Amino acid sequence: MAHVITQACCSDASCVEVCPVDCIRPTPDSPEYCTAEMLYIDPDTCIDCGACVDVCPVDAIFPDDQLLPEHGRYPEINGQYFKKHPLEPAEFEPSTAPTLPPDRLPLRVAVVGSGPAACYAATALIDQAGRSVEVEMFERLPTPWGLVRAGVAPDHPGTKAITDVFRPTVSNPSFQFHLNVEIGEHLTHDELLAHHHAVIYAVGAFHDRRLGVVGEDLPGSHSATEFIAWYNGHPEFADLEFDLSGERAVIVGNGNVALDMARILVSAPEELARTDIADHALAALRKSNIQEVVVLGRRGPAQAACTNPELLALGHLRSVDVLVDAAEAELDEHSRAVTGRPDADPSVVLKTELVREYAQRHATPSNKRIVLRFLTSPTEVLGTDRVTGIALAHNEITLDSDGMPKPRATERTETINAGIVLRAIGSRSTPVPGMPFDTARGTIPNRNGRVVDPESGRALPGAYAAGWIKRGPSGGIGSNKQCASETVALLLEDFAAGRLDHPVRGRGDLNALVHERQPDVVNGLGWNAIDRAERQRGRTSGQPRRKITDVATMIGIAQGVRPPR
Ligand code: SF4
Repeated sequence: MAHVITQACCSDASCVEVCPVDCIRPTPDSPEYCTAEMLYIDPDTCIDCGACVDVCPVDAIFPDDQLLPEHGRYPEINGQYFKKHPLEPAEFEPSTAPTLPPDRLPLRVAVVGSGPAACYAATALIDQAGRSVEVEMFERLPTPWGLVRAGVAPDHPGTKAITDVFRPTVSNPSFQFHLNVEIGEHLTHDELLAHHHAVIYAVGAFHDRRLGVVGEDLPGSHSATEFIAWYNGHPEFADLEFDLSGERAVIVGNGNVALDMARILVSAPEELARTDIADHALAALRKSNIQEVVVLGRRGPAQAACTNPELLALGHLRSVDVLVDAAEAELDEHSRAVTGRPDADPSVVLKTELVREYAQRHATPSNKRIVLRFLTSPTEVLGTDRVTGIALAHNEITLDSDGMPKPRATERTETINAGIVLRAIGSRSTPVPGMPFDTARGTIPNRNGRVVDPESGRALPGAYAAGWIKRGPSGGIGSNKQCASETVALLLEDFAAGRLDHPVRGRGDLNALVHERQPDVVNGLGWNAIDRAERQRGRTSGQPRRKITDVATMIGIAQGVRPPR
């Protein structure tokens, strides 16, 4: 008997900290942590104590005799990891928070953004400095949680439950929300610094990369950001319209975001109706004619961008076939050599096996379909007034100068008819007012979280970054915990060493200034009122919540106006 980590794993490693026999890997301080798809439990060492289950924020851990049917592969997946990475004692370096100078307390920190990286940073500050710190969190929407609310797919409620981890932080008296306040519009960076010792930017990466092909801006061609924010009820995207009258959708890109969109497009509306999907999206999906979603990957199965847990989960969708052309499931010479080695990465081997298994499945005529395509790149989004299809080049795999596989277009081409094209080829950050910006990497230039002047390389006093704006858009929700902790450790070190200017104004002055600049600021009580109203609305329809998507309505509720039914 052993415990097993399954699909929902967020990698925040809370379980690693409590395991009495130290059998969960990779640990956040190991090199493998940055690239691992999830965490794994060594079945030979686990003593079945269940301590990890209690702390897992997304309910991803089960005893192996209580696994759900769709988790059948996970004992093997957990065990395989340790064949390549035999369990060695982890070398933990106990983190020691520096002693904070009592004459300069409280330490005042502004956190800009309210997604996972921002919340993990606030949590690390309060955990380490307790009542010696005051954290002010700024968010431009009237609701917190960033991409957990506006990005995580509604059919992944376990992942959304990560916000429960942050509730003790946001209800701590040291913490204040300033929602519906935009830095750069209502307050400047210099004004933040006048009221805080330090500012941590954790604003994420909310914009899409573009394909750069003709027809990309035709009606019917959309970014993943637009579609995902729309079905998640983001107020700035709630009024968008997506034409789902055609029978086929094409998604460019095959990462987890692409698979999220594919699932939502073919899932039965009655199943989506039990989630917190936005009302307008559910209504549109009920009328949808989409029967088939084609997911395009530039490279082969061994290089597919999605993770195995998400790829595996596709195969458990009810009344949906996952199909792969047998020829495209075949590996190129390079991928065959890599996956055939005795020390091959088990997650890459598993990915190619899953694709091969899908290639052996047969379609059920009455089912909807997700078709996974490989070695195809879009060359044009077709149509005159609106999207009618997409033109593709077929690729082959070659090696770049570093020996890494890369796609190269062949002369073979193809067109696919489709009524809607969604691009999901990665996200990017945009510049933050008052901060330097590295356009190529899409990050605020920084060293381990300390913002630096790109010209001189010198640290900008009091400015820090965490999450995707610090390291680029990679890693799951939980990987932001380690990232934010690293930033907070440096901030505390700088404060203890006297490198941060003492703010000339405090919390009372800040609150007065925020109210003057943004009378519709939503504080923690206001957010609690919105949260309650959404949950109450959901109770009548059997949903965890029914989201309010109109900013004026949210503000009204926060200010005590009776919520809509
Ligand atoms: Fe470790 Fe106990 Fe979880 Fe097994 S059940 S992985 S021993 S915490």
